Amino acid sequence: MYDLDSSAEARRISDAAFQLLEAYEIPPNPDYFRLMYDYVSGRDPVVTRQLGDAASESNVRFRRVATDLLIHHYGEGRTLNLLSETGGALDEIVNRSVGQLAEAGAEAKGFSSELGGFAEDLDGVANTVRVDDLVGHMVTATRRMQAKCAKLETDLNQSGNEIHNLRNKLDETRAEALTDKLTGISNRAGFDKALTMAIMEARDEHESMTLVMCDIDHFKKFNDNYGHQVGDQVLRLVGGILRSSLKGQDIPCRYGGEEFAMILPRTRLQDAAKVAEAIRQAVERKRIVRKSTGEAISRVTMSFGVAEFTPGEPGSDLIERADKALYDAKGSGRNRVCLGIVEQRLESDSHLPDTRSAIAAAG
Ligand code: GH3
Ligand code: MG
Ligand code: MG
Repeated sequence: MYDLDSSAEARRISDAAFQLLEAYEIPPNPDYFRLMYDYVSGRDPVVTRQLGDAASESNVRFRRVATDLLIHHYGEGRTLNLLSETGGALDEIVNRSVGQLAEAGAEAKGFSSELGGFAEDLDGVANTVRVDDLVGHMVTATRRMQAKCAKLETDLNQSGNEIHNLRNKLDETRAEALTDKLTGISNRAGFDKALTMAIMEARDEHESMTLVMCDIDHFKKFNDNYGHQVGDQVLRLVGGILRSSLKGQDIPCRYGGEEFAMILPRTRLQDAAKVAEAIRQAVERKRIVRKSTGEAISRVTMSFGVAEFTPGEPGSDLIERADKALYDAKGSGRNRVCLGIVEQRLESDSHLPDTRSAIAAAG
């Protein structure tokens, strides 16, 4: 809902948002503009806090957090983020209240013992019966208040624990939303996030980064011959091989169906091709047995397309190049690794391997 009367204010915010985009060298597209608008206006607590923290660190961090927010905060993760943020705020309020109550309780305790001492001092003094009585009442009332404070403190501590648990659950749910249930590796949403982050990192750190797309060969036949459950067993196996073969920052993902992807930060094309080739061999070597009967199942093979990130290109171009190389691997006989080369580079740099050349033929 926009208030037309406040157009001057909107202009001020949008000017500031554009200035931020320029200062942080962020593309001035509608998505990033909206993010900066939310940040400047302070109307979204998640954006304000996260970008505010990032701004105090570095430009690189600011850009990274901005992209991360775009992918998650404005997507399905928005509600989860807001809930988590609210939980965090509640956490703080409860913690502060518990501290204040503990102080109040301690003060009440001090006050009640002071009153007790006062009553003792008055003991035996003539004509002090009424005063004595009064002080007695006050001591009782103060003790009651002290007990109430202690009870409230316990209750608040419990609420604090509940909020804390809720936040942990939300964090778990968010992680689950990025994970493929069958294989336990990143799902498509996780892939999108990881690729965007990897591209930003490669750009900011002037590093290489390579993407591998891979796909199980003739998987449909496999399902038809052995059934979906065995098919699922194969998918889990492939996910396991990818996970155990990759290390460090490398990210294995299930891109969809029987198609997988690997994001390899700080890796050149030829090194990524070696990784892909090792995985191709590991999959091919695996002997699979039907769990229920112990029957041996025909060999599983995979085809791979490898493409290196070119600075400045959008993620979709990189995916397209890796996909095209994968298509080449399928077309030239499957069970092999093909490289995707940027056309421009081929013209100026003829010693580079040919796009269509398969580096590994079927065993
Ligand atoms: P190609 O070598 O050309 O990749 O052939 P293909 O049979 O592997 O490819 P196609 O795209 O024709 O078939 C993919 C099959 O993968 C179709 C579907 O039955 C199967 N599949 C996709 N997702 C799942 C899944 O989650 N579980 C199981 N069991 N099968 C799946
Ligand atoms: Mg396939
Ligand atoms: Mg496929």
